[in-house]
Amino acid sequence: MKIMKFGGTSVGKPERMHQVAQLITKDVSEPRIVVLSALSGTTNSLVAIGEAMASGNREQAKELIDKLEAHYQSFIKELVKTDKLYAKAKSIVSEHFEFLNIILKISFSEALSKDILAQGELLSTKLFSVYLEEKGIDHMLLPALEFMTIDAQDEPQLSTIKVKLSRILQQNSDKKLFITQGYICRNSRGEVDNLKRGGSDYTASLVAAAANASVCEIWTDIDGMHNNDPRIVKKTLPIEQLSFEEAAELAYFGAKILHPTCIWPAQQQKVPVKLLNTMAPEALGTTITQEAGSVGVKAVAAKDGIITINIKSSRMLLAYGFLRKIFEVFEKYRTSIDMITTSEVAVSVTIDNGGNLMSIVKELEPFGTITVEHDHTIISVVGNEIAQTKDILSKLFDALTPIPVRMVSYGGSKHNVSMLVPSSYKTTTLQLLNKGLFGLE
Ligand code: ASP
Ligand code: MG
Repeated sequence: MKIMKFGGTSVGKPERMHQVAQLITKDVSEPRIVVLSALSGTTNSLVAIGEAMASGNREQAKELIDKLEAHYQSFIKELVKTDKLYAKAKSIVSEHFEFLNIILKISFSEALSKDILAQGELLSTKLFSVYLEEKGIDHMLLPALEFMTIDAQDEPQLSTIKVKLSRILQQNSDKKLFITQGYICRNSRGEVDNLKRGGSDYTASLVAAAANASVCEIWTDIDGMHNNDPRIVKKTLPIEQLSFEEAAELAYFGAKILHPTCIWPAQQQKVPVKLLNTMAPEALGTTITQEAGSVGVKAVAAKDGIITINIKSSRMLLAYGFLRKIFEVFEKYRTSIDMITTSEVAVSVTIDNGGNLMSIVKELEPFGTITVEHDHTIISVVGNEIAQTKDILSKLFDALTPIPVRMVSYGGSKHNVSMLVPSSYKTTTLQLLNKGLFGLE
């Protein structure tokens, strides 16, 4: 079994959907499960529709629904050619927009907002299926809501997913091509839910693990993970091979191409993940496997919007249990810490979610003097064994001479050195590292 996931831009235009049909029928040596996102822009619109309804602004919600429906109406005109399948596509679009219009009339709830969000992936997969039908490509729609489940903590239940998915696949063992929805799932109350924004990658990885797939291909519109942010530095190179650990660090610290949560299921079942480009299908892309590959720096990534909290206290001197008490405050507010540095009388931590910042600061105040700094960026240098490689460290710090580095996290893992800089220095830092570590301008 092979998993192939296509993101919103890969299905966002009729001609792109046509191309996806070609890509999934090129190599038929193995059965395939194709995971699709919603058409690009759809989930954002559905979020806006939900927000308008939540704030009681039905008129605005109605306007947004109509606008989105018009988009789908013109989409299907170019998607299929025959009258029969156009009529079928039209009735799918009508059905889902009728549903949204019904929701508009009932009183809004959290569960309803999840129903709204699910429409994007339901539409993209059904419309894609209509196109495959027109092309005479034999396939089956696998309803994600029948096998993707999350528990009461919103965590996917891999073992349950495995049992449910295997059963469906066994019952349809004559089929070679399956199409399913990314992102959507059922929660512990049996309601429609989702794996959070960008969650289709997570679906793909979970399905890959559950089906013990030979490979999990993530198709986007860039040729794999790059060594640096192409929006910021002029020259970047795709990375051919990464280990799961390196990929996890990169995904977490800002490489937008892969959702950070999606690494563990594939890693657990040792399913290789390939990042491929729909615009250049022949390009090598990036392969992520268990093996670390070569030693050395592979990439740098940046994560913005970091808040630094400093706790200074002479009571910390020779004290034990001090850090535990501090961490408990963050635990209480379900806020995860990214970086931490300590000295004998102070500790600095960074967070990327300031939702509970005021409460956290208030509860930390009894421990010492608290200061908060905003607008920081974590620059993460990722590669195999880099923390052990002396010349890498000297190159790194040489390159950063002009930068006021605020924190350094080194030695936590063998694959990563992270630095905290004021966000206003992000561009310069990435450029200097591109030159200093990769010899690229
Ligand atoms: N459609 C969802 C989103 O835009 C999931 C995904 O694309 O991965 O967040
Ligand atoms: Mg995506």
